[in-house]
Amino acid sequence: MSRYTAVKGMNDILPPDSLRWSRMEEDLRLLAARLNYQEIRTPVVESLELFQRGLGETSDVVQKEMYVFEDKNGNKLALKPEGTAGFKLALKPEGTAGVVRAFIEHSVGIEKPGPHKLFYIGPNFRYERPQKGRYRQFHQFGLEIFGDPTPEMDAELIYAASMILDHFKVKGEIRVNSIGCPACRPAYREKLIEYFRPKAEELCGDCRRRIDSNPLRLIDCKVDAPRDRWNDIPLITDHLCPQCASDFERLKKALAIFHVPFVVDPFIVRGLDYYVKTAFEITADTGGTQNAIAGGGRYDNLVAETGGAATPATGFAIGLERLLSVVPEDFYGMQPLAMGFALFDGGVADLVHLTKHLSHHPVRYMAEYTPRKFKNALQKANKLGARHIFIFGEDEVKNQQVLYKDLATGDQKTFGQHEVMAIVAMLMDKEIRK
Ligand code: AMP
Repeated sequence: MSRYTAVKGMNDILPPDSLRWSRMEEDLRLLAARLNYQEIRTPVVESLELFQRGLGETSDVVQKEMYVFEDKNGNKLALKPEGTAGFKLALKPEGTAGVVRAFIEHSVGIEKPGPHKLFYIGPNFRYERPQKGRYRQFHQFGLEIFGDPTPEMDAELIYAASMILDHFKVKGEIRVNSIGCPACRPAYREKLIEYFRPKAEELCGDCRRRIDSNPLRLIDCKVDAPRDRWNDIPLITDHLCPQCASDFERLKKALAIFHVPFVVDPFIVRGLDYYVKTAFEITADTGGTQNAIAGGGRYDNLVAETGGAATPATGFAIGLERLLSVVPEDFYGMQPLAMGFALFDGGVADLVHLTKHLSHHPVRYMAEYTPRKFKNALQKANKLGARHIFIFGEDEVKNQQVLYKDLATGDQKTFGQHEVMAIVAMLMDKEIRK
């Protein structure tokens, strides 16, 4: 038994899964480029305060799920400004706050007019109770658009999310809502408090605390499932101000033009404080309880609240563990492998030559340099899943040739050792690609 194990809730990604991961990441990068998003990479660590500010003190992520620490320069805490987290650091629990910080710090919005379309891909950390589909280190791909206030841009973003689902042949349900703005949400918030306060006894402990601090979160509580228990919960869609109501109509109209299938779900509130107006989630059948695969929405006030110039923004993130769990098994077929063997010591040098030549081509090949008998080479190839072998026996070496055998069909063929291009063409033809 190994003395060390991975930290609870954090996963190793080994072959062949790692191949699916890297292919998926490549595809996401290509999709992002096609839609004119450019990559942004921000550090894994930010100041704790950035997240407290951005995500909201009452959000579950900030209250319960952050990995917080001090670095060796912890004495700087003495300079801690009153009422702030000072110089405490945190592993990022989501992608948006760091992107917003970088957007402001590098004056991106000031130097060039928007819209600025950015994407990120990388790990996030949340101290959650691990279960299938919920991990302490998980990965997200996200899109963020700064500098465009229109609901049509939200629709374009949701369209991008739907393109991702289509690309990976994932059947997901896109659920959209408007969660109002600072003009209409406070009155709705009061309505919720009024509605739930008399029901406090029937609520879970978290929700009892949320009644005053974060009543919106009450309506999507997974423990209480209020939507199944009460049918007269006040809904945000009935309490939007005229501007939010008209923007929501424009969103739905644009989604229809993009041919994005969606349902309106007034119970979507999103966990983080920074969202206004458009909020959406995508669910899919992941075979577990964690079936939310992506979520996002508009966050027009976050840039200003983080210290930048007022900049409307919208974005979403898709969880890569959950995405990969719903990508059909055969979407990334395992590529066949070719192997090279020498049957005696005198064949090893020629085998090394073949390896060198093939290394310049995108064919999936590997060699084993310890000489072994033909039958033994076949067994080894079988064990490693190689269906194609190259053999250097005494005859081949004498004639400057190499014997090729397709183990699935039994076909075999002899190539001259200089016929590298013919060998590569044949391998490509048999789809033995990297
Ligand atoms: P959120 O920011 O919580 O809406 O998360 C966006 C997406 O990230 C979710 O829809 C999930 O796909 C993924 N996600 C969030 N938290 C986790 C987690 N602890 N483990 C795995 N995936 C997660």
